Amino acid sequence: MSGERSIGVIGAGPAGLAAAWRLAGRGRGVRVYDVREPGGRLRTERVAGRAADAVVQLLSNHHTQVLDLVESVGATDLLVRLPGQDAVWRKGRANTLRYGSMRSMATSGALPRGLKLRLALKYVPFLERHASALDLNAPWLAGQAGLDDETIAQWGRRELGDDFVEYMAYPLLAAYYGVTPEEVGAGVFHCLARAGLRVQLLGVRGGLAALAGAVGEWLDSRGVVVVSGAPVDGLEPSGTGVRVRVAGGYADHEAVVVAVPAADAARLVPGAPWLSRVPCRSTATLVLATEGPVGKGWFGLSIPRRDPLGGQVASVYVQEEKRVDGVGPAVVVVPSPAAAERWSEGDPGAALEAALPVLDVVLPETRGRVVEARLVRLRQSLFVPGPGHFERMERARAAEVPPGVALAGDYLVAPTVEGAVRSGIQAADRLMAGPA
Ligand SMILES: Cc1cc2nc3c(=O)[nH]c(=O)nc-3n(C[C@H](O)[C@H](O)[C@H](O)COP(=O)(O)OP(=O)(O)OC[C@H]3O[C@@H](n4cnc5c(N)ncnc54)[C@H](O)[C@@H]3O)c2cc1C
Repeated sequence: MSGERSIGVIGAGPAGLAAAWRLAGRGRGVRVYDVREPGGRLRTERVAGRAADAVVQLLSNHHTQVLDLVESVGATDLLVRLPGQDAVWRKGRANTLRYGSMRSMATSGALPRGLKLRLALKYVPFLERHASALDLNAPWLAGQAGLDDETIAQWGRRELGDDFVEYMAYPLLAAYYGVTPEEVGAGVFHCLARAGLRVQLLGVRGGLAALAGAVGEWLDSRGVVVVSGAPVDGLEPSGTGVRVRVAGGYADHEAVVVAVPAADAARLVPGAPWLSRVPCRSTATLVLATEGPVGKGWFGLSIPRRDPLGGQVASVYVQEEKRVDGVGPAVVVVPSPAAAERWSEGDPGAALEAALPVLDVVLPETRGRVVEARLVRLRQSLFVPGPGHFERMERARAAEVPPGVALAGDYLVAPTVEGAVRSGIQAADRLMAGPA
């Protein structure tokens, strides 16, 4: 393909890295730009010499294209199967449970007794009945099947009761996605719940950022240049290609993949006004490096919002309990959706002050062992998958973009690293196929 101009990829999170991997694997010249280091929310913070996954915590057997990509760059040995021991705070204690194990959910004190019965007799059969429409990697199918017309709070309160919304939907959505049942489409939640019935969790040796590092090395070996510290602030047509304005200069490309969160894409991509209607929010996480382990035998603890501790904090992740080499000792605290905006705009001291009283109850050793705290801000990078969201995206992502631009990002396919990777591969394939 000599003589062709290269393709620009804007954003080196999982979506952008996957697009670059696909394009380079097909022999195309590629240049990647990111405002930070590569990895996006695959972000492992080094705080006082401890490593902590600050945002993305886990992969799973459902991350199938991620696993293919990892294998193709020769990094499979970074993946470690995890015991999957989580917990939910209820009645003043951490009730352990293993996601993916119905037996564990049935015997755990995490869920009220009546709810466990309704889950077994009504919800699990519902999920199995609609199995063909409930694929977490293709959530628009739920919309097409008429299962995503309302929020999971509306569906849940009517079909399974208030406790389903408070003790099952909220803890899962707030802890791992930073959103509430009142915002999220029922179809997306059903997809998550169905995936959770058969899940095998995976961690990454040295932290999730090591995966981004392995992809970066592979790209480097294929001649792909990844430019860090390069905020792209505009795109415009240039001859038959696209001009990328970056850090006071510009570069011309044959075409570009825009793999940044929807709020950033809305600013960058002219001619796609629908992007600014994707609801986006800010959040932050608090990383606490600790002097020695503080764990209790569980990795992630979710706190229901009705619990007195749930106003500020949605979840706590004990890094050393992942049991992967090179991670911890450290604790990562995720704010409740109600507190997230405040945490992301405030200073680290305010977040620490909000988190410590909760940690004093759920992990009492922490306060005396904190060596250093770091607030990781995620500005406008959380999108809210409301009812019908993914069906709308399925129509828009291919059709409603200017020529020479392909969009990628989790907001287009599914709210996970797998969704982001799939979106990147699809964007690369659309560009290589040329105009429809
Ligand atoms: C608290 C939390 C926990 C999560 N846990 C999990 C989990 O355990 N498992 C899972 O699968 N998913 C998880 N997710 C979801 C996951 O983080 C996302 O789905 C995924 O990271 C999205 O990838 P992306 O490439 O679309 O975006 P990002 O990872 O956000 O990458 C976008 C990139 O674009 C760059 N960028 C932005 N603007 C510009 C610009 N103007 N110029 C240049 N570069 C720019 C950014 O620096 C960033 O590197 C979690 C999310 C949150 C918020």
